[in-house]
Amino acid sequence: MYIVLLGPPGSGKGTQAEVLSRVFDAGHLSTGDLLRDILENQDHPLYPKVQVIKEGRLVSDEVVNQVVEDGLKRPEFRNGAIFDGYPRTPAQAAALDRMLAARGKKVDVVIDLDVTKDVLLYRLLGRLVCPRCKRIFHERQGLAECPDCGVELVRRGDDNEETIMQRLEEYKDKTAVLQDYYRNSPAVYIRLRISDASKTAGDVQEEITDRLRQHNVI
Ligand SMILES: [Zn+2]
Repeated sequence: MYIVLLGPPGSGKGTQAEVLSRVFDAGHLSTGDLLRDILENQDHPLYPKVQVIKEGRLVSDEVVNQVVEDGLKRPEFRNGAIFDGYPRTPAQAAALDRMLAARGKKVDVVIDLDVTKDVLLYRLLGRLVCPRCKRIFHERQGLAECPDCGVELVRRGDDNEETIMQRLEEYKDKTAVLQDYYRNSPAVYIRLRISDASKTAGDVQEEITDRLRQHNVI
């Protein structure tokens, strides 16, 4: 099973990818994680091309595609992959189609998490992070310290309304063409509107499961 998750920063893509990865016994392929792994290893052949991230620049499509293609060779992806943060452009989507076609596979499902502005603001503005283990909490949980590390939780510096809105607009601009790409592809396209901030990750997970059933994917 190969599933692509689309959604703006704060949409909960990573959490849902983890769940789907267990449901389908497929690896969770996060390009953010793969790129961080490379940044921690100066001997990696792609290190010189990836380290532009440190200067705040974007890694080229070509390099990201290579990172994904290498990643897919890992054993955890033998049954499929749940893509989180990839593809971001139609060129990347076309490259992914080619990589999968070479294995006789294709993107089976695209799940587009359409989270409203209000829900994103509620989630991100109330977000607290453990500086040690990086686990994310929400202020509604009423925690002052990380239950695992006992370290005081902090707010992320870039989580303010202006930057959140800016990231959302950028995301929408960039993603429209990718949404068109997948709507015109053979993949099952599931768009899930999330407009209620009280919905938990578990609620969203149930809705995804229902929709996958409707499409006879599970
Ligand atoms: Zn912690």
